[in-house]
Amino acid sequence: MIDSHCHLNHEQFADDRAAAINRARAAGLTAMIAIGFDLASSEAALRLSSAEADVWAAVGVHPHDASTYGPEVERRLREMAAHPKVVAIGEIGLDYHYNHSPQPVQRDAFASQLALARDVGLPVVIHCREAHDDLFAEYEQSGLGTPCVMHCWSGSVAQAHRAIEDGMHLGIAGVLTFKKRGELGDVVRAVPEDRLLIETDAPYLAPVPHRGKRNEPAYVSLVCAQLARDRDAAPEHIARVTTSNALRLFSRLRMTA
Ligand SMILES: [Zn+2]
Ligand SMILES: [Zn+2]
Repeated sequence: MIDSHCHLNHEQFADDRAAAINRARAAGLTAMIAIGFDLASSEAALRLSSAEADVWAAVGVHPHDASTYGPEVERRLREMAAHPKVVAIGEIGLDYHYNHSPQPVQRDAFASQLALARDVGLPVVIHCREAHDDLFAEYEQSGLGTPCVMHCWSGSVAQAHRAIEDGMHLGIAGVLTFKKRGELGDVVRAVPEDRLLIETDAPYLAPVPHRGKRNEPAYVSLVCAQLARDRDAAPEHIARVTTSNALRLFSRLRMTA
């Protein structure tokens, strides 16, 4: 099992990062991808991945922080992307729910980092909240077809079909275990199994029965179990398929156990 999206680099793991990683290993995880959201957290993800064989890194600037994106940040991301433990550029994208950065600035930073990913030959991890139409438009207009995952999928079934047509993968998070999960149950049944990844987005969005508490990579097994119930499949099957999907998408990723 792979947690394809977590923030072990987040300060909320400052006191027990090593213990959280060990609990993930005990839960059967063979890899965790620590995702950067600004320059400092990208550096932290890279440091952590250099120290732990089964932790990998993604480096990038989140739409919240798009205003901080510029030539100097891009230069540093490009430098980090050459490291063998960096498996993706991310998380990048659009977030029109919070609008912490102005929308045109978010679109520019997204387009620049899509191009950067193409240059360095890495897939991208996309964050998208209440911005699906613009995000698909930007992605399609780029004409790059950069391999990607839309992490923590929150769109409709119709939007999921568009993502699949665009060649995207969908990252399924703990929201799948919530009572109020909108169309997500229908989405995971409608998507071909070779496009599904599982993730925690820890420390956020802890799955039931940990909802409201700090999330951690070990809990990805709960997402796996729920996905298995929704797709009428064995959890072992879902674990195996989502693992091989992650290995195919993140081509630098290697299993250590
Ligand atoms: Zn995100
Ligand atoms: Zn995230």
